Amino acid sequence: MNKKIAVIRGDGIGPEIIQEALKVLDKIANIYGHNFSYVDVDMGGCAIDKYNEPLPKESLEKCIESDSVLLGAVGGEKWNNVPGNKRPEKGLLKLRAGMKVYSNNRPAKIWPQLSEASPLKKSIVDKGIDFIIVRELTGGIYFGEHKIEEINGKSVATDVLVYNEDEIKRIARIGFEMAQKRNKKLCSVEKSNVLESSRLWKKTASSLANEYPDVKLTHMLVDNCAMQIVKDPSQFDVIVTENMFGDILSDEASMITGSIGMIPSSSLGLTTCGLYEPIHGSAPDIAGKDKANPIGTILSAAMMLKYSFNMEEESKAIEKAVDEFLNSGYRTEDIMSKDMKKVGCKECGDLIVGFIKKA
Ligand code: NAD
Repeated sequence: MNKKIAVIRGDGIGPEIIQEALKVLDKIANIYGHNFSYVDVDMGGCAIDKYNEPLPKESLEKCIESDSVLLGAVGGEKWNNVPGNKRPEKGLLKLRAGMKVYSNNRPAKIWPQLSEASPLKKSIVDKGIDFIIVRELTGGIYFGEHKIEEINGKSVATDVLVYNEDEIKRIARIGFEMAQKRNKKLCSVEKSNVLESSRLWKKTASSLANEYPDVKLTHMLVDNCAMQIVKDPSQFDVIVTENMFGDILSDEASMITGSIGMIPSSSLGLTTCGLYEPIHGSAPDIAGKDKANPIGTILSAAMMLKYSFNMEEESKAIEKAVDEFLNSGYRTEDIMSKDMKKVGCKECGDLIVGFIKKA
């Protein structure tokens, strides 16, 4: 199969982790007889430096024209003081909107080899952690009006949270469909005791339930959900929630699984062209030191093969290689524990490439 992949290396550790994921993709292409071609795309701080824009028009076009997009991470202190609409993260929001991907899917799964890295008690971890957060990605407060004004001599900031029922329906459907393929439990998370947008969210999700009779739909307030994720994460199968709540809950969920560096994500819309990226940021504190864990990016590439290219077997081959890497006692610094063998970003990628075998 021939596939054109847009590659956004980005800032901080972005270029390092992407390099390792590309090595993995090359090995897959080699042993399975595919041809992956890569188109480099400037986005984030590096694009601001070159074009004074976090996502130049040409970059977005390259992404839309590709079969899928693999992204490292963007942002860093250097660009913290640029105006709001020029910030690296704005490029990310524009990319998601431009690609019309409205669903961000983040697995929170504990690798048994890393169960000790979880900050949760063993008795909680032993019950198992394996759920997915389906987060709405192109609506809500991140895309509402933002303004700051002077009123009676004081600065007043406003951010507007808007959802219409169609936006809620399409993301809720993804939640129901994902639950159908898993353990058939969907938890819709909102703040309906306070927010009007959340009351519409709850009502709309409920209105779809009779179309998915095999899925058990429950509702939970976001503050309770934040507690339940640390108290008893085994209760969750699929969580569907709005943009900002999903942003926060998925970071919490990533932490209980051990390391933010291990977790991939996919963002999908109506077409198979998806955006695949690890859930962490550009980690400026460890950039350029060969310390980053590339596994979240490598597993994002595996998700790309599965969800966008229908290459289930190839995707599994990558997951198995990661499993073997961990079984062999190798660890990057962020997941290091006693008696394990510490490796850097590059060696981690090389070892995983070495473990990839055709089934
Ligand atoms: P971060 O995720 O970059 O880092 C948080 C902590 O986790 C740091 O200690 C970092 O060293 C560690 N970490 C992250 N990824 C790691 C990896 N792969 N291996 C080992 N350790 C890892 O979050 P932050 O520090 O809040 O943000 C840094 C920059 O990244 C900011 O400019 C922020 O806006 C940006 N950011 C970008 C994205 C994205 O590109 N999707 C997402 C979140 C934050």
